Amino acid sequence: MGLIPYKNEVYLDWSEDKNVESMRAALKDVGSRLGRSYPAIIGSKRVETNGEIVSVNPANPSQVVGRTASATEREANMALDTATGAFEHWSRTSPEARARILLRASAIMKRRRFELLAWEAYEGGKPWAEADAQVAEAIDFLEYYAREMLRLGDGVEIYSIPGEESRYTYQPMGVGVIIAPWNFPTAILTGMSSAAIVAGNTIIMKPSEFTPVIGAVVAEIFEEAGLPEGVLNFLPGYGSEVGDYLVEDARTRFISFTGSMKTGLRINELAARQIENQRWVKRVIAEMGGKDAMVIDESADLDSAAADIVKSAYGYSGQKCSAASRAILHADVYDEVLDKVVEKAKDLKIGDPESADVNVGPVISEPQFEKVAGYVDVGKQEGERVLGEDPGDPQSGYFISPTIFEVERDATVAREEIFGPVLSVIKASDFDEALRVANDSPYGLTGGVYSKNRDHLERARREFKAGNVYFNRSITGALVGVQPFGGFGMSGTDSKAGGPDYLPLHMLARTVVERF
Ligand code: NAP
Repeated sequence: MGLIPYKNEVYLDWSEDKNVESMRAALKDVGSRLGRSYPAIIGSKRVETNGEIVSVNPANPSQVVGRTASATEREANMALDTATGAFEHWSRTSPEARARILLRASAIMKRRRFELLAWEAYEGGKPWAEADAQVAEAIDFLEYYAREMLRLGDGVEIYSIPGEESRYTYQPMGVGVIIAPWNFPTAILTGMSSAAIVAGNTIIMKPSEFTPVIGAVVAEIFEEAGLPEGVLNFLPGYGSEVGDYLVEDARTRFISFTGSMKTGLRINELAARQIENQRWVKRVIAEMGGKDAMVIDESADLDSAAADIVKSAYGYSGQKCSAASRAILHADVYDEVLDKVVEKAKDLKIGDPESADVNVGPVISEPQFEKVAGYVDVGKQEGERVLGEDPGDPQSGYFISPTIFEVERDATVAREEIFGPVLSVIKASDFDEALRVANDSPYGLTGGVYSKNRDHLERARREFKAGNVYFNRSITGALVGVQPFGGFGMSGTDSKAGGPDYLPLHMLARTVVERF
């Protein structure tokens, strides 16, 4: 296929009036479509369910963004049957034809970009720039995985011995269950689904209960792109109601999950259990949480370090698995960096992401609000709060202001994933100690070092225990194809989304040898 080389989608420039106007128009248009109902899509059927999921705007919880079906075991069973049937044809469809569907979906997303941003603002509570980065990432996944499938379509080179031909190729696996979180409802859902599909598998797509309308929009885009019926079965539902059934079923070949450590470990355990009629060892791709640290040593550019701590800690209200939730500062620069971080964080504007100038929106849901508020209470007892206010009434929006605690390294707020705009700041007497504190976590997702000391950077290059390590920059916003993303330790299976090893996780490698 004659494709232009891959390159990342360029972010929108919000200093251009035409982009601001287009976004306002999209917010108005999508705003007029709030409150609609979205059924499950199983094969050719739109399927209604007895129950429903009511999705609300986290900045204004009385506003219903939409209502979706809420799948039970009955619909999950239908979806597994349909996906199993559709696999026959789809798995025999050429890699080129499969890749073309992704390229078409990418073109549709580009055309509908502002609309997608508006859904992100209403349902995800995302400020404009955050929403844009995420939709750009979804487009990147489609473009990148399409090209990756073309690269792998004829297999990869291996050696042959004289008189024989050895071939190493990949084939589709079967039915995959795609279980996504709410924090990147367009990008992660699109990325996980498109990788599985382009590899020749059929899927059951389960979005988070907090962002099911965005899930419906993504499913519609694949439909509009010409994906044959039954290849993608859209199954909104509560994880607690249909999750175990989907994971345990004998028809499920693999599970691709992104979410919390607790759910990921449960899925891993259930998928490993042998069941009746089992024909394969289920594969689990699980990307989970983090407690990500930035280390700032005494040689660092302190202004730049402070700006990137603020960006990494408070982008999307700290609700990124890659977010900086620990800043470990060398004692010699501790006070200066902390002052700069507090000053810069004070400048962030909190509010409803419908407005262009908001930097920090709400957290996603009432349970998330209660959880983060609980950690704020704990942090106040464990250390000193140098920034932040007590959370207000959640009924007027799930807002939590950027918060900073000075704490000891073993404080609860410095060890557990909070997933909100809460940063723990820890003092270290030297670089050795700082790196030790950074690595003293069961998680290992992202991390960063700010330093001009070559020895420190080289040590961290070898020893920082994280799947994605960044030097002298922010630690969030991994670019597809440029910063393949995934964690070590209890952060997951290190699948590296957006990288060269990702697609093979969705396929079976075959070695075929012929002697002549
Ligand atoms: P979550 O509560 O674990 O939910 C993730 C998904 O799993 C949702 O679709 C959820 O459905 C579903 N689920 C819940 N119980 C299930 C079960 N028993 N079986 C199968 N599925 C089940 O996580 P979240 O709150 O949505 O997301 C935040 C977490 O994701 C954080 O820990 C964050 O660090 C992590 N994350 C990691 C990455 C990464 O790349 N490593 C990226 C983004 C987020 P319901 O919504 O219906 O409960």
